[in-house]
Amino acid sequence: MREFAVMAGLQGKVALVTGSTSGIGLGIAHALAGAGADIVMNGFGDPGDIARLREDIGSQHGVRVAYAPGDISDAEAVGHMVAQGVAELGSVDILVNNAGVQFVSSIAAFPVAQWQRVIAINLTGAFLAMQAAIPGMKARGWGRIINIASAHGLVASAEKSAYVAAKHGLVGLTKVGAIELANDGITCNAICPGWVLTPLVEVQVKARAEAAGISVEEAKRQLVMEKQPMGRFTTPAQIGATAVFLCSEGAATITGTSISVDGGWVAQ
Ligand code: NAD
Repeated sequence: MREFAVMAGLQGKVALVTGSTSGIGLGIAHALAGAGADIVMNGFGDPGDIARLREDIGSQHGVRVAYAPGDISDAEAVGHMVAQGVAELGSVDILVNNAGVQFVSSIAAFPVAQWQRVIAINLTGAFLAMQAAIPGMKARGWGRIINIASAHGLVASAEKSAYVAAKHGLVGLTKVGAIELANDGITCNAICPGWVLTPLVEVQVKARAEAAGISVEEAKRQLVMEKQPMGRFTTPAQIGATAVFLCSEGAATITGTSISVDGGWVAQ
């Protein structure tokens, strides 16, 4: 007997993926579109590049793709983003809070403005988007909220105070969302990636190569092996596959949890 689909058929659903003009968010947008969802893209970048990415997703997967610009840390802009999704595509059923930034420095030297920026984008942005999207999900009796946290939502590293605080906060926010929405047909989970080779990490690879006088390839190898038992990067498509699973009926009672996709990082 076929009780439910393990992998999601997301035709008729609309997914807003913040920060989907690059890296992990773009991988998630492709994966959800591949499962049939219409997509609201968000994030910064060159308008021509964004138009091409939008066209690629639409033509590869045969779905509708809107683009909602806007800074995720700005409450008014986030309200417009969700309203635009509803106006252009009919609803926002899946919210993936993915937009994020990093800043690396010791606590003693951490610029306060950078602390506030990292918290505002990585944590407050997710809160604002949940606040804007939840009423529509409740009205339709179905929703999926997926917060892209990090291994740094579960364990710490030196020189990443704002990021680690924001990601631990995001894991906590995920649990509150799960409890509040438990009987509204809405699940709320976090995905905690380990190393994924994206522009956010390429900056850290380059800094390591320059500081140690080593090649970029060697810097990548060292970066991964320092934290992960598995000596390979996760891909944006693999994070996307986890997001698709969380949207499936098979995952309907998974809520409030953090799924590590991290090559064994937090198993240690
Ligand atoms: P990335 O730099 O490739 O992409 C970040 C995206 O966020 C871009 O689309 C950017 O335009 C957007 N963005 C940045 N600030 C924004 C703002 N204020 N408003 C709206 N959009 C904004 O980074 P990535 O590596 O793909 O990271 C995506 C998420 O995954 C982040 O939350 C990051 O913390 C998390 N993560 C990444 C890794 C990794 O190894 N790359 C590991 C764990 C968690």
